[in-house]
Amino acid sequence: MIIQMKKFATEQEVLAVVKKVKDIGLGAQVDVGEEMTVVVVFGVNTGGIETGVFQVFPGVEQVVRIEKPYKLASRDFKVSDTIIDIGPVRIGGRELVIMAGPCSVESEKQIMECAQIAKACGAKVLRGGAFKPRTSPFSFQGLGIEGLKMLQKAKKETGLLIVTEVVSSETVRLVSEYADILQIGARNMQNYPLLDAVGKTQKPVLLKRGFCATLEELLMAADYILQYNPKPNVILCLRGIRTPVDANRFTFDICHLPKLRELTHLPIIADPSHPAKYSRYVPDLAYGAIAMGVDGLIVEIHPNPQNAQSDGLQSLKFGDFATMMEAIGRLAEVRGRIV
Ligand code: PEP
Ligand code: MN
Repeated sequence: MIIQMKKFATEQEVLAVVKKVKDIGLGAQVDVGEEMTVVVVFGVNTGGIETGVFQVFPGVEQVVRIEKPYKLASRDFKVSDTIIDIGPVRIGGRELVIMAGPCSVESEKQIMECAQIAKACGAKVLRGGAFKPRTSPFSFQGLGIEGLKMLQKAKKETGLLIVTEVVSSETVRLVSEYADILQIGARNMQNYPLLDAVGKTQKPVLLKRGFCATLEELLMAADYILQYNPKPNVILCLRGIRTPVDANRFTFDICHLPKLRELTHLPIIADPSHPAKYSRYVPDLAYGAIAMGVDGLIVEIHPNPQNAQSDGLQSLKFGDFATMMEAIGRLAEVRGRIV
């Protein structure tokens, strides 16, 4: 249910409505928009509550039921695009934000080299997994805390922000001490205790779409995180989904971008590396995503992909990354974006 306030409703009137929502045991979040302020009501069985309960309050324009199963991520709640400010970086605005780095942090030398090339080419965020969610238990699982410390050092040297994955509720606190953006991987998109734990940190979150998740499921996963945050803090990521076609590792779901934009106010970025399978396909997937209008990209690079501990096949060599970044700069202009 959403309560739309009148254009000139006072703060006291909004607070009175929020108090009523809480008094009847439900959650409330407020979006102060330019046109109007909206209060979203969430909780169990909001459908059983009469809209008149809120309609009678002074300052209320109208009370509407949100028919969609997701609430906080919905455009029905917040009409304007969300921009997430993370230090000097704004995600969801005019800037096209590039995140780049290796799949896994493997050594100090490796992450430092990646950070330097990423920075030199115009990326604003360094990626790198310290805790890796590997499909096989026998694959490299990441360097853990040592990897986090290496990321911290690379941040100190270059000033790049850090995005790194968190794979378990137990390590959320640890990882959030080092990360500027917490990554939830595709395999964990529906790990609800983990989404809760990450939401409670109130840090920015990069939420990757599950291999088989519908857009509704993706947005409900975002709601898990958003419920703890008065300001929206989730960046969605299209990273490819499972289809019968095996020409690539995953089928790039960038064709869902226009629909997803209609459904949600959250920023949306794309990962052209994980669907690609081979690094030679990555630049074209990246260009396509930019042409479609994403707010940013997350890309895997490696100083020596043949020796990578994970995802070497799809990781760009530095020279190819630099060439791609030049083209991205030109393409961004077409969409009115700056890198
Ligand atoms: C990754 O970013 O390296 C990763 C594991 O991504 P995904 O969760 O999209 O597979
Ligand atoms: Mn990877």
